Amino acid sequence: MPAKTASSVPPWQSYQALYIHVPFCKTRCRYCDFASEAMEAGGPAAQVHMDTYVDDLVLQLRRAAKAGELAQLSTVYIGGGTPSYLGGRRLTELLYTLSLTLDLARIEELTLEANPDSLTPALVRDSFALGVDRYSLGVQSFNDRELAALGRPHDATQARAAIRLIGERPARLSIDLMCGIPEQNMTSWQASLAEATAPELEVSHISVYPLELHPATPLGRAAAAGEVALPDEDMVADMLAYAADYLSRQGFRHYEIASYAKPGQESRHNSAYWTGRPYLGLGRGAWSMRQRGLAAEVGAGTGGRTLLRERWCDGKLQESVVGAEAVAREDAMLGLRMAQGISVAAQPEPIRQVMSQQIARGLVVEEDGRYRLSRRGLFMANEVFASLL
Ligand code: SF4
Repeated sequence: MPAKTASSVPPWQSYQALYIHVPFCKTRCRYCDFASEAMEAGGPAAQVHMDTYVDDLVLQLRRAAKAGELAQLSTVYIGGGTPSYLGGRRLTELLYTLSLTLDLARIEELTLEANPDSLTPALVRDSFALGVDRYSLGVQSFNDRELAALGRPHDATQARAAIRLIGERPARLSIDLMCGIPEQNMTSWQASLAEATAPELEVSHISVYPLELHPATPLGRAAAAGEVALPDEDMVADMLAYAADYLSRQGFRHYEIASYAKPGQESRHNSAYWTGRPYLGLGRGAWSMRQRGLAAEVGAGTGGRTLLRERWCDGKLQESVVGAEAVAREDAMLGLRMAQGISVAAQPEPIRQVMSQQIARGLVVEEDGRYRLSRRGLFMANEVFASLL
């Protein structure tokens, strides 16, 4: 990261969230376009490559701690790729370093992403002992045909076993579920949702999202060639609508476009992204966001007072958002992802005008002094966001 600013300019706000990226997976899923690479965990390449990568993360953590960048963190998220695929020894090295470089007592949430096939009893035991209090499990589906169509490295039996394993600890559990998968129909989607919400599994957070097809992936190419049968757009919309109704009946609150949580189980880390709080990303391809504004007036939901926001990745400045209105537009776009929406009073006039247009289209509602996406707007959110940018 760049040097600190001179004292004559407003200081950068402290990072509040830390993301650590682990870019390794057992195999590449057929739809994946994330920054990850498949690697044989026990093979000679991994011994060098994964060990070196974790050693480098340890150095980066120490440097960040020395620079005071970890002092105000309240959440940590170890994501990927497949962090559980690092194995117990490497993960322990990483978590142990975290425990030395930041004050775990002030960390409200430490999440570890995992795939069912690489989550072992020892890994859960050790990671929990070293501070992980939330697991995010890439389940995607409880149907083996669908999992095979996606090229996932696990089956439904392994997913159930991993959920039960986490359930043995007093840790929070989030799972991902995907709709729009080849081989999927409404009945199998309903079955996956029913299984995810079975009371004995104690899943407290579910992320629901539609399959995205990227042209450069095996599944994207197969779909373009007409070699796979996919649920059509209307069916995917029906699946998302069913999930919203069903999960709300099961006691989950739809608190963000793709996120459902039991009361108090919302992702605090992801909320930092959606409410304009600075975050530090470590590891290959991880993004950081820093910002500064008028002294004593900056912070989450500032309604346009932040003057400069920067995004960095791999040591390079990638994006600058300059000026209060540009930052406010971005804050509005992010804030509208959440059910709580954005404060009407905090919006500058140009954003209020955009919101009035979206209210007229039925995509936004104004109630209790806040703008929120309407139910229709939830499914057409990209149109609302585009109007803001
Ligand atoms: S586990 Fe996730 S990151 Fe890894 S290949 Fe599959 S979709 Fe990509």
